[in-house]
Amino acid sequence: MTSVPEVTMRHPWEMPPAPGEAIEVAEGVWWMRLPLPMKLDHVNVYALDDGDGWTVIDTGFSSKKTRAIWEQLMAGPLKGKPVKRVVVTHHHPDHIGNAGWFQSEHGAELVTTRTAWLFARMLTLDVQEEWPQETLDYYRSAGMDPEIYDKRAADRPFNFADVVYPMPLGFTRIKQGDVFRMGGRDWDVHMGNGHAPEHATFWSRDDNLVITGDQILSSISPNIGVYATEPMADPLADWLEACERLAPLARADHIALGGHKLPFSRLPLRMRQLIDNHHGALDRLLDHLDQPKTAAECFAPLFKRSIGEGEYGLALVEAVAHVNHLYCIGKLDRSRREDGAWLYQRKG
Ligand SMILES: [Zn+2]
Repeated sequence: MTSVPEVTMRHPWEMPPAPGEAIEVAEGVWWMRLPLPMKLDHVNVYALDDGDGWTVIDTGFSSKKTRAIWEQLMAGPLKGKPVKRVVVTHHHPDHIGNAGWFQSEHGAELVTTRTAWLFARMLTLDVQEEWPQETLDYYRSAGMDPEIYDKRAADRPFNFADVVYPMPLGFTRIKQGDVFRMGGRDWDVHMGNGHAPEHATFWSRDDNLVITGDQILSSISPNIGVYATEPMADPLADWLEACERLAPLARADHIALGGHKLPFSRLPLRMRQLIDNHHGALDRLLDHLDQPKTAAECFAPLFKRSIGEGEYGLALVEAVAHVNHLYCIGKLDRSRREDGAWLYQRKG
C-alpha cells in the first residue's frame, strides 16, 4: 500500500515481460504478467519447467481476456507443453482466479495451503446480490467516507465469483516445513501470514530463488487489511510475526520473485525496510491519536500521501489493521460514535 523509495532496491530486470511474452529469470523458470483492472494493474505469474509439463505459480483474475493471454502464453513461450500443476500462493482473486480453469479445462492439479483453498472456495460459493448487512456495518465502524459509502451501497456488491473461476472439489495441500519439488529444484515451504492467512512462500535449496508471492514485495508494501469476515483480526501482528520468522532465511544474493512489481535482490534489506516501515507508521499513528479519530481519519500518518478513490478501499482496510493492532496490544481505547464508527484514542 505505502510507496517505499526504491533507492536501495536492486532489480535484475528493469522491464517486465510484454503481454503474452515471458522472461527466463533462471534456468527453466519463466516470468510472465497478466493485466488487472485496478490501480495495481498487473500480477506476476511464473512457469517452472518440469520436463514433461509445467508448474504454474499463480493465475490472474478470472476473465476471458486473461484466459486468452494464458492460451497465447501456453502456445508461445510455454511451447505447447501441458500445465500439469498450478501452485497458488494465497487465496486472493488475482492469484487464484484461474486455478479452477486449469483444473477443469486442462486437468491440472491444484496445490495450495488448506486455508487458501477453504477461503477461496467459500468466498466463490458465497454469491451476494445485495450487500450483506455485516459488511455495511463494518464499513460504518471503520468510519468510511459517507459519499463513498453511499456510492458503494448503491452498487452491486463485489463478489469473489465475478473474478474467480468456479473451483472444483479437490486440491493438494502444502504446509509449513514441506519440501516441494518443481522446476528441477527442491523448495522449502514457509508460511507467510497477514497479507493473507497461510500464504505460501518457496525457498529454493538448489539456487538463489525465492518465490515470495505477496508476502514480500519490491516497491510497494503488501496490503494488510481487516475485513467484515473477522472485524477484530490483527493481521499486522500476523504479518510481522511471519516476516521476523522468515527474515533469517533471506540472503543478499537471493532473487525474490514476487506477485507484483519487479523481481529484486537484497531481500534481507527489503524485509527489514518493510518491517521498520510498519513500526514507523504505528508510532506516527499513536501520535495522531492524541484525539479520538476513526480508522478512516488515520490515512495521513499511515500513508503520508493523499489517497485517491481507486485505492480508498485498500487504504481503509489497512488503516483498520493498524488501529486494531494498537488496540489489541493495549495502546488504544475505543468508543462508538452515534453513526456506528469506532473512535480510537491513545491511552493515558
Ligand atoms: Zn496480489
